[in-house]
Amino acid sequence: MKRPFVSKEQLEEIVAKYPTPFHLYDERGIRANARQLMEAFDWNEGYKEYFAVKATPNPAILQILKEEGCGTDCSSYTELLMSKAVGITGQDIMFSSNVTPAEDFRLARELGAIINLDDYTHIDFLNEVAGIPETISCRYNPGGTFSISTFVMDQPGDAKYGMTYEQMRDGFIKLGKLGAKKFGIHAFLASNTKTNEYYPELARILFEVAVSLKKDTGVDIGFINLSGGIGVPYEPDQKAADVQSIGHGVKKAYEKILVPAGMGDVKIFTELGRYMLAPYGILVTRAMHEKHIYKEYIGVDACAANLMRPAMYGAYHHITVMGKENEPHDHKYDVTGGLCENNDKFAVDRMLPKIDKGDLLVLHDTGAHGFAMGYNYNGKLRSAEVLLKEDGSTELIRRAEEPKDYFATFDFTGMF
Ligand SMILES: *Cc1c(COP(=O)(O)O)cnc(C)c1O
Repeated sequence: MKRPFVSKEQLEEIVAKYPTPFHLYDERGIRANARQLMEAFDWNEGYKEYFAVKATPNPAILQILKEEGCGTDCSSYTELLMSKAVGITGQDIMFSSNVTPAEDFRLARELGAIINLDDYTHIDFLNEVAGIPETISCRYNPGGTFSISTFVMDQPGDAKYGMTYEQMRDGFIKLGKLGAKKFGIHAFLASNTKTNEYYPELARILFEVAVSLKKDTGVDIGFINLSGGIGVPYEPDQKAADVQSIGHGVKKAYEKILVPAGMGDVKIFTELGRYMLAPYGILVTRAMHEKHIYKEYIGVDACAANLMRPAMYGAYHHITVMGKENEPHDHKYDVTGGLCENNDKFAVDRMLPKIDKGDLLVLHDTGAHGFAMGYNYNGKLRSAEVLLKEDGSTELIRRAEEPKDYFATFDFTGMF
């Protein structure tokens, strides 16, 4: 059974301070999880996790991860600025973008970030707008179908990202002529994976590509970036990833493929987002209304603008009705927000204990791709983000939007 990382009593105290809805993050959980990841890859000298900023773009979160030894994976101008603001610069930034504007490349170069090129044509573009750095990475797309045993994980052939093998090969040669000296290889082939075999299988593919590229081009391959994609158990009966076993699987592939090729000094990088944060965030909301028509509805004060995954992907987020964990789950509800969109439902036909107006509801696993995907549809305002610190105190790490924020991009000069 899924339990929130706060008790009802703790949460009552927190909501007395910060009105619902808000996202609450668990510093203790974030740190413990990051340490486990570091341990799982400590066999690789130079291993580094570049946290995918897009998952939880908050400086306080980046600061915690920085203290645990992580860098950042940025994909836009503002994500680069946020990384800089917390003092993560230089090669502690991986810039993995696509369809990249010139000013983004310029800022990435200024900060000394490692640039990961999404396309062959970006070589000339980067050269023109910002110059080619000494360290450079290219994103690989193997095409076709990506399967593990007989299970189809995803269809890289339909994905917009990355380059073909031939483009990687020609790209490395071209980049070398333009002054690049250290090369990296990156790929992201499946998202929210549920098997411990994803990273090891991806590693086998990339390690073999690395050996071939070295043979075909003679360049110095410094690192291989396994990117994101390790999943989390959103549903109560799912199992958490075993990061120790994942690290071991990657090590086996490393020893089998890279070491015999004389490439035993290649660094392993990751760009995890979801795995680093999702389980350590919750969306706290309150039941406002109940409605009885053809179905039973509970209307809460959060909506899809605070958490889009259920509306966008039909994603499951577990719900705990605080204080009623042990009561029979004998009521079938749709739990909805107030957007004028019928997909604004956090749960459909969910069996829950009887919910009364005023009850506090916790939506689990919203720490990644939760607040981050928020938007202002229907004039809804973004919520606050609150950090539950290791000592049990709380800190407001982002205030809630107010109407003035919603209107800040209009020029009302002369209207009032
Ligand atoms: C989204 C993304 C990540 C993080 O993915 P998760 O599924 O959150 O682990 C890492 N790298 C790139 C390039 C991404 O686009």
